[in-house]
Amino acid sequence: MKPRIVVVGSSNTDMVIKLDRLPRPGETVIGGEFLTAAGGKGANQAVAAARAGGMVSFIARVGRDSLGDEAIEGFVRDRIDVSRVTRDAKAPTGAALIFVAKDGENSIAVASGANDRLTPADISRARPLLERARVVLMQLETPIATVDAAARIAQANGALVILNPAPARQLPAALLGRISLLTPNEVEAELLTGIRATNASSAERAVVRLRRRGVKAVVLTLGRQGALVADERGIRRVPGFKVAAVDTTAAGDIFNGALAVGITEGRELDDAVRFANAAAAISVTRWGAQPSAPTRRAIERFLRGR
Ligand code: ADP
Repeated sequence: MKPRIVVVGSSNTDMVIKLDRLPRPGETVIGGEFLTAAGGKGANQAVAAARAGGMVSFIARVGRDSLGDEAIEGFVRDRIDVSRVTRDAKAPTGAALIFVAKDGENSIAVASGANDRLTPADISRARPLLERARVVLMQLETPIATVDAAARIAQANGALVILNPAPARQLPAALLGRISLLTPNEVEAELLTGIRATNASSAERAVVRLRRRGVKAVVLTLGRQGALVADERGIRRVPGFKVAAVDTTAAGDIFNGALAVGITEGRELDDAVRFANAAAAISVTRWGAQPSAPTRRAIERFLRGR
């Protein structure tokens, strides 16, 4: 049996309007198309990992509403184990309102709903699942105490903990010490370190500082430039792939889901990052969050073509 990836995190419904350009505060821009798609960083990463070839269980909360039904139907279609996706009687499914401009830039507001009610008690109930995990993949759209509870169980059982520290926020030192692999983008790295990664040397300083704070390895994502990897073997860049981007929504999520698969399969970190760069590059050529996550076949075909 394949080793299991457990994703702990958020599930939202994304409601997207495509525009010529993003509205400024107080401004109304008449948009083009409106569409809805399954999203939320946790769910995006779970779906990305499943499509990239991982055996995935998802620990999450959605509402007892039609958006929650649709979310779970989507996970099941992607063969994700949903035995620990709880229906919350008191809060609605999380929702994200997203503007995407022609050039691929986006602007996003999120109402967390049921995601805020994913608690350490949910993690306790999922303990048997977490104890069997090879990799536990998390983000920060659910309460930090929940993330910490899952990281503790994972660490105690020798699972690798990947934390994508998004959206950006400060992290307690104890949690940082439980992280095997931290995967910030440049904005998140700046918030965590105070260093703005504007060039190669500032990016290197940022990853070094994160390692000094107790994280074993860091993968700093650099958009189209790929990623900067730092572990006990040193620091190196794993270049991204040149593609025609149409929508960068969830690029980081697709990257993290695929990265978890690469690591679960026992690849070297640099090789797993290359696999993740490929999955994310494909995703930015497609619209939406979960709809843009590529299958294993698509990732392998893309890599053969490079
Ligand atoms: P986030 O989406 O969290 O802001 P990044 O912008 O760093 O994070 O993107 C995450 C990953 O997605 C990158 O490391 C890269 O692999 C891929 N990626 C993002 N934008 C592009 C792009 N324009 N072309 C190719 N790959 C991209």
